Amino acid sequence: MKLSPHTMPVEPADLLIRLHNLVGAAVDVTGGRGYGEPTRWICHGCGVVSDMPKEDLLLFTRRKANGHASECRAAYHRLG
Ligand SMILES: [Zn+2]
Repeated sequence: MKLSPHTMPVEPADLLIRLHNLVGAAVDVTGGRGYGEPTRWICHGCGVVSDMPKEDLLLFTRRKANGHASECRAAYHRLG
């Protein structure tokens, strides 16, 4: 597996789950730990973020992040 600068980015303080996409880039789920607290996800491979930032419950955020990680092949991006 090719490693990229986005394979092991700095862990955010509110990191809940770190997944990896098909080429090893990190997909982070962040947010509150308690039930009902908002969470979000970001893919460090392609730069995609939650389509509902800071609104999704962990149950849904985890599912969406895992789904993205299982199909994303991007290792690096230069998006703002
Ligand atoms: Zn991605």
